[in-house]
Amino acid sequence: MLRFAGALLTVFLTALLPGANAQEAKPLPHEDERYKADIMVVVAHPDDEAAVTPYLARALDEHRRIAVVFGTRGGSGSNEAGAEQAAALGDVREIEARSALETLGINNVWFLSGKDTATQDVLVSLGNWDHGETLEQLVRLVRLTRPEVILTFLPGTFRGEDHGDHQASGVLSTEAFDLAGNPTVFPEQVAGPMKRLEPFLENLRPWQVKKIYYFPDADREDIFRGKGPSYSVKEVSKLGNKPYWRMALDAFRAHQTQAKSYLDKIAQMDEAQIEKLATSEDGWGEDQHFVLGKSLVGGSVTGDIFEGITPGAIPYARPDMAPEPARPDLSVELGGPWSFYGEFRRAHGLTNLPHPEPPEIALEGPGTLVVPLRIRNQTAKAHDVTLTAALPAGWTAENGTGKFTVAAKQTSAARVEVKLPAPADKAEKKAEPQEVTVRAEANGQIIGEVKLRVELRKRALPE
Ligand SMILES: [Zn+2]
Repeated sequence: MLRFAGALLTVFLTALLPGANAQEAKPLPHEDERYKADIMVVVAHPDDEAAVTPYLARALDEHRRIAVVFGTRGGSGSNEAGAEQAAALGDVREIEARSALETLGINNVWFLSGKDTATQDVLVSLGNWDHGETLEQLVRLVRLTRPEVILTFLPGTFRGEDHGDHQASGVLSTEAFDLAGNPTVFPEQVAGPMKRLEPFLENLRPWQVKKIYYFPDADREDIFRGKGPSYSVKEVSKLGNKPYWRMALDAFRAHQTQAKSYLDKIAQMDEAQIEKLATSEDGWGEDQHFVLGKSLVGGSVTGDIFEGITPGAIPYARPDMAPEPARPDLSVELGGPWSFYGEFRRAHGLTNLPHPEPPEIALEGPGTLVVPLRIRNQTAKAHDVTLTAALPAGWTAENGTGKFTVAAKQTSAARVEVKLPAPADKAEKKAEPQEVTVRAEANGQIIGEVKLRVELRKRALPE
């Protein structure tokens, strides 16, 4: 009996001794190659993909694998094809988006759980999207599809459609770019189950995306030119045997809820008429412009999107955070989405990202412009700060001007509300943006000025 126990002990010790009877290490199971992407496109609504489908048609010629992520199902949009609204419309639009991309041969298509939000304010969109939840979903998809490059809307406030949801897709993408390679971010995604009944651990690997490019949703694109590569859409695709713009238009035909009347009109035309209308009036023939956000693999600003990219993983790169700008002890600045974007660019090392200066916005008139302000008092005593507004003729400050006491070491929030008139009659040319200036004075001196260029429109709220 004792001898038997001794033999057992010997077997046990042998198993523990390194080198003796070494076991074969079990390799980690590898990722599912079917979902590996070279390009991940992140947009907000079904049909937003049309902003890049002409480029995607080119990328397919270059044998790039493409994944597309939609932040929402587009339930707040209009419906030209049927009665369905809200969540039901979202279900229909999901299928439209999948069909559109299937036309190009792309089926690596995903949806986050964000809710379509009719706003121009990115913060409102992020709130309604459950920012944390949708970011976690996007980080998961980056780790699952392992893209080399992300293409997304430019995060910023501009005159243009400038949908808050479009901006939100650019914000989430930038965050996911900086987080997905960090194994301590959503660690349950990168942990693997150790035993049965741990079905909550996802067994993904961290993944560092190499480059991120943006496409602006602004009317005036001059400040973005030369900040990234441009591509002609008129060349003929080797795979599709049609110009890239034409392949994009073919794909767009799936979006009946959004554009049935336009698509019906196109369906009645011959090829020459389609080419004339689509490329001269509807923008399908315009070059595609991108803005380089960041590259971790070098390459030139205007060089090809894949310049500098070689296959394989690269190490996680912590973003370079720019230092906080120096401010006088008593200062005033724009708050709301404008101050958010200033901090966002700084936190994500996007200090070269173009943004209009002075900041701008397009608004519906008649209506109200809210100018959110932050007044900082870093001095050791309270100060009386007087806010005045210099406005275009016919615009009136309704609220928020006058004298405020800001305590020592305090940052105060203020808001100036400006009543906007109706825009000038349609007979006139598109109205030039007007400048609104809010001036802050203390102790008889101007401590700061905030400027905003505002374009009045008959209709400005995005859908
Ligand atoms: Zn959209």
